[in-house]
Amino acid sequence: MPATLITIAEARARVLRAVQPLGTERVAIDAAHGRVLAADVVATGDVPPFPCSAMDGYAILDGDAGRTLKVVGESRAGTPSAAILGDGGAIRISTGGAIPDGATAVIPQENVEVHDGTILTQAVVMAGDHLRGAGEDMRSGETVLRAGLRLGAAELGAAVAAGAAELTVYRRPRVQVLCTGDELRAPGEPLGPGEIHNSNAPMLDALAAAEGAIGGTARRLPDDRAATQAGLASALDAADVVIVTGGVSVGPHDHVKPALAGLGVEEGFWRVALQPGKPTWFGRRGPVLVFGLPGNPVSAVVTFALFVRPALAALQGRTEEPLLEPEAVLGAAVRRNPDREQVVRVRLERRSGKLVAMPNGPQGSHIVTSLLGADALAFIPAGSGELEAGAAVALERLPR
Ligand code: AMP
Ligand code: MG
Repeated sequence: MPATLITIAEARARVLRAVQPLGTERVAIDAAHGRVLAADVVATGDVPPFPCSAMDGYAILDGDAGRTLKVVGESRAGTPSAAILGDGGAIRISTGGAIPDGATAVIPQENVEVHDGTILTQAVVMAGDHLRGAGEDMRSGETVLRAGLRLGAAELGAAVAAGAAELTVYRRPRVQVLCTGDELRAPGEPLGPGEIHNSNAPMLDALAAAEGAIGGTARRLPDDRAATQAGLASALDAADVVIVTGGVSVGPHDHVKPALAGLGVEEGFWRVALQPGKPTWFGRRGPVLVFGLPGNPVSAVVTFALFVRPALAALQGRTEEPLLEPEAVLGAAVRRNPDREQVVRVRLERRSGKLVAMPNGPQGSHIVTSLLGADALAFIPAGSGELEAGAAVALERLPR
């Protein structure tokens, strides 16, 4: 491998070393979905807070079948019964209703015969039947959620049950996407000779948003040194992460690297032993991270997945690594690249108990359709000849 190329792992490590987690803020729980928790959540009380019924039925004392019991009150969810239960009594109870003092069990309503003001029990009832104990879900003082978790629906539910109304979360990274290229046209614009539509802008905006970023709207920059530098300068002032696509190579119309150097952005790496995605640049100015991604849309998405996504996660203090998948077997032979690790878009299929990674059509870095329906990236180590079908490959889920 030429000395100028670094491995994917080394490139990632350099990105992560450059990340300083962003500050924190308090947000209401209904605004916290997708945010990353910055402080543990501790239960402020037992959950459930009181012993309650798991069924609609009658709170009674445990005992044999065939007892006639007098209904002396009702405990509904939210409205406990004032009555105290004695021997020979029953209190009608709803699911979630507080267990009245004295009761040792609940008999479901389908196990009783109801008469006027009494019930006849038709099943043996053991102490504790259909009761939910206080604190069965969470104990007061217990740590329920740990800092570093991304808050999904379940985490929000658990936080509320634990008594929280607001959560301390990491600030969302502000991301500015810039797409260089005189040939780029906005969605739907008619194309003149040599022009193409700007696919990178919506893809990278969407990928950054899915990772929790606050997006500026992607902007286009012409292939002109002064305009490139001006666009990068304002992005550097306003964002935590600047993603610039295209114009990063060494052609006469590639102005990104000299412009970044002119703006005092320090290089972390340039060029990775990766296909697609070799001409990837990374650097920083103070805490602001800059990614120069290749212009080809597939390369831009692959390098976002490999380098930008982990940075956005780490900026938000994420400690989990949610995108790693177990190994799979390759579904079709792939020609190896002698110098670079290949990242192949694959569909994942289950075949006789095995996870099979099937290359998703032609793999050219300009083939946007190779991303459609792709579930994951499969890593094909550099080498000669082919990696044959059936070989084990490492996978990483493809963010969408
Ligand atoms: P570059 O890295 O600027 O040399 O671009 C490499 C290839 O990617 C060229 O064929 C460009 O036309 C194409 N390309 C660059 N930027 C975009 C974009 N935003 N959307 C679609 N294709 C692009
Ligand atoms: Mg270009």
